Amino acid sequence: MPTKYVFVSGGVISGLGKGITAASLSALLEARGYRVAPMKVDMYLNQDAGTIRPSEHGEVFVTEDGLETDQDLGNYERFIGRPLHRAQYATTGQVYAEVLRRERAFAYEGEDVEAIPHVTDEIIRRFKLGGQGADICVVELGGTVGEYQNGIFFEAARLLGRREPKNVAHVHVAYLPIPGALGEMKTKPVQQSVRMLNGMGIEPDFVVGRSSQAMDGRRKERIALFCNVAKEDVISNPDCGSIYEVPLILEDQRFAQRLLARLGLKPKRADLKPWRDVVDAIRRAKRDVKIAIVGKYFAVGDFMLSDVYISVIEAVKHAAWAISRKPAITWIDAADIEKHGAEKILAGYDGVLVPGGFGSRGIEGVIAAIRYAREKKVPYFGLCYGMQLAAVEFARDACELKGAHTTEIDPQAPHAVVHIMPDQEKKLLNREYGATMRLGSWDCALKPGTVSRHAYGTAAIRERHRHRYEFNNAYRETLTKAGLVVAGTSPDGQLVEIIELKDHPFFVGVQFHPEFQSSPLKPHPLFRAFLKAVAK
Ligand code: GLN
Repeated sequence: MPTKYVFVSGGVISGLGKGITAASLSALLEARGYRVAPMKVDMYLNQDAGTIRPSEHGEVFVTEDGLETDQDLGNYERFIGRPLHRAQYATTGQVYAEVLRRERAFAYEGEDVEAIPHVTDEIIRRFKLGGQGADICVVELGGTVGEYQNGIFFEAARLLGRREPKNVAHVHVAYLPIPGALGEMKTKPVQQSVRMLNGMGIEPDFVVGRSSQAMDGRRKERIALFCNVAKEDVISNPDCGSIYEVPLILEDQRFAQRLLARLGLKPKRADLKPWRDVVDAIRRAKRDVKIAIVGKYFAVGDFMLSDVYISVIEAVKHAAWAISRKPAITWIDAADIEKHGAEKILAGYDGVLVPGGFGSRGIEGVIAAIRYAREKKVPYFGLCYGMQLAAVEFARDACELKGAHTTEIDPQAPHAVVHIMPDQEKKLLNREYGATMRLGSWDCALKPGTVSRHAYGTAAIRERHRHRYEFNNAYRETLTKAGLVVAGTSPDGQLVEIIELKDHPFFVGVQFHPEFQSSPLKPHPLFRAFLKAVAK
């Protein structure tokens, strides 16, 4: 059976949720027993998302096999509940780098190397790699239709459809505004967006309308008429309480069945009970848990904090719902703590979380927040930087190591409790920044009797990393004597991966990013344990 390809493009506005549409569709196909490979192609020249400022582009997600990707891959994993791999993410930069490499290697044997067909062939090769072994590859085309930058990906999608008409379908996701002065939902922008797609030689098989309210029959008819699709293939995707309701909304309109028919595949029955249970749990959760997330404040660019830390936020939500609580997350600007003190800003929160990060801005505020949580016995969860800074705080205050710091901030620190990993130093000196951090999944051995060991319920785990600095073993003895517990290490015992504190309701810092492995159907054990402590 050849792999089928479903291209999901967007129109009218950016940030319209085509990633969630692609993820939800993937979930519906998976629920029918099809093996789906969701894939994202991005138009920028960066070869991965690792060198893009999160405030520009949102969270940098990390796959199991260590690629730094767009946040949409996180959405896909959360919806299909399975890890994705590097072939499922491509950028213009990757594509051109390969074409140029081949050109230098005389792989084109004297041909004139051109955007079409050489670049499009390379893109199609990547679609094939992304879909390898899958029944259906759902490819989200980054950006919106009509941009110069992503046109070549649309062209490659068109060409693949020419070559394999039975194996390719196009879904166009576009926005229907309801202008305030009119109070009425308008379809014209969607029609024009589809026109633009037609101009590129692509006829969508399905049009998904994103809007604040559900689309009525009349609107569906208009779109069907002007966009040359069946009315049943115009799908309404309105704003709703939670993104995890979207699969159910699409299912009610028989989206997956119709798509499967279009691709010549059996419709099959879907088992959506797990999704219905999640949505019920979300609706049932009434009592709040108040969690403060402390970090430096990003307010620039198009992206908000909620995009920068999307996996962290989702992981908190998954765990809260699992214990029937409603997550109330507040962003605390670490600079405010520097100004007004932790006591004043953090009083009233049930838990404190410090996510990953880089650089010095607001760092003393973060450390003050950690001290507050440690001393006042407020549940604390530190992720990556949040673990490193917990070690720094503990060294300074509980071990009286004056000036203790991470060398990321103070290279001359008298007590370098956190220092650069040996192989990283050279890379930074040579300005080798791209894809050179400690990335992807690594094994970790858990110490018996610890909070983490108890939470995971197993002694050996694998978690994803993205960092250059680590806990300095020269301080292991001093800190553990003062009450720090090294709860997890690399299997050889060398790298400290988890720290905990004795005599505290919950104080856990992890060198990895557990948030990347949480999904609504399977909340992450450490987030669950944190939320349980928070709810108490
Ligand atoms: N800046 C720290 C490091 O590079 C932490 C990284 C992170 O939080 N992802 O080690």
